[in-house]
Amino acid sequence: MRANALAPYKRLTIKIGSALLVDKQGELRSAWLADLAEDIAALKAQGRDIVIVSSGAIALGRGLLGLSATALTLEQSQAAASAGQIALSQAWATALGRHAIVTGQILITPNITEERRYYLNARTTISTLLGLGAVPIINENDSVATAEIRYGDNDRLSARVATMIEADCLVLLSDIDGLYTAPPATHPDARHLPEVASITPAIEAMAGGAASHLSRGGMTTKIEAGKIATQAGTAMLIAKGTESHPLQALAEGARHTLFHPAQSRAQARKRWIMGTLTVSGTVQVDAGAARALQTGKSLLPVGVTKVSGAFGRGDAIGVNNPDGVEIARGLASLHSEEARLVMGKHSDTVVELLGAGNRPALIHRDNLVLVGAKEDSHENHHEPS
Ligand code: GLU
Repeated sequence: MRANALAPYKRLTIKIGSALLVDKQGELRSAWLADLAEDIAALKAQGRDIVIVSSGAIALGRGLLGLSATALTLEQSQAAASAGQIALSQAWATALGRHAIVTGQILITPNITEERRYYLNARTTISTLLGLGAVPIINENDSVATAEIRYGDNDRLSARVATMIEADCLVLLSDIDGLYTAPPATHPDARHLPEVASITPAIEAMAGGAASHLSRGGMTTKIEAGKIATQAGTAMLIAKGTESHPLQALAEGARHTLFHPAQSRAQARKRWIMGTLTVSGTVQVDAGAARALQTGKSLLPVGVTKVSGAFGRGDAIGVNNPDGVEIARGLASLHSEEARLVMGKHSDTVVELLGAGNRPALIHRDNLVLVGAKEDSHENHHEPS
């Protein structure tokens, strides 16, 4: 039996291209969507988190608004996106609703994935939806995005979403079953690549520029997506989605290209923390806490002797030893006022003061990097996946 390509992954972002959801007449492929919804319900029943990045708003909207098949102006495609997005959300809500799965819509512009404040907000909304068993349906907010502030293709958008929510896999469902040594439409002798260890210039050169009849991106934007995903520790699969039950097909070993992550997600996160130029605050710790951090422990409030600056949850803060020397950096799990309230207190008291559901650590060890480890984090590690 062929291997289940989705088996290793717990949290998947699945990108659906326009050409899969909408036919050449501008009609929704509702039977196909119904089958896909069955696949999604099956994955969720196995305990996996599923986030959908769905294209198709413009393709549906142009049909709804009677816009001709010729190239749309920017204004027309924004209008089409506006009308089409309603139909698209409705289609998803209906298809997944049949399996008693609730959907939540999130429309994104690049400032949301690139600016920390919005990023944290969007990430929290998505993880709250996932925690409640819902499936977030994401698209670009095309009707307000302008040329300068848009992704323009959902391949890269889905890669940013996948890394933002720390998905372990991004699946790009497309009209082609993966990457070939050259675009197969023009090169009949092109070979299919089952795996890509790392995205080299030679791999980029294989992508060519071909796009399908509706989608904005061809293989080039998929490779760009692969770079974003794999650098952040997320694997990427390109698979053919045109037939019915494409996810079930992947689970049964259908042909695809797997792009291996370049580093683990933990390494990527730690590198990112160390790369933060400015910290929003600093905490000073006692000698015991300083020693505990060296052995890989989380920073607990009990060891904190002083809190400086104003920071929010998720902000990068510095950790100083009793001599005032920075020994670590990390992402705060509490904001600075909470930190001041609980510093020096034991974990039971912390939970009492902040309420159940709050983490007793000020910086969880997954979000903490020792300053001595800085050189380490800049090396090009390659962890087996
Ligand atoms: N966001 C666009 C839409 O919903 C699709 C972009 C793409 O095809 O990648 O129509």
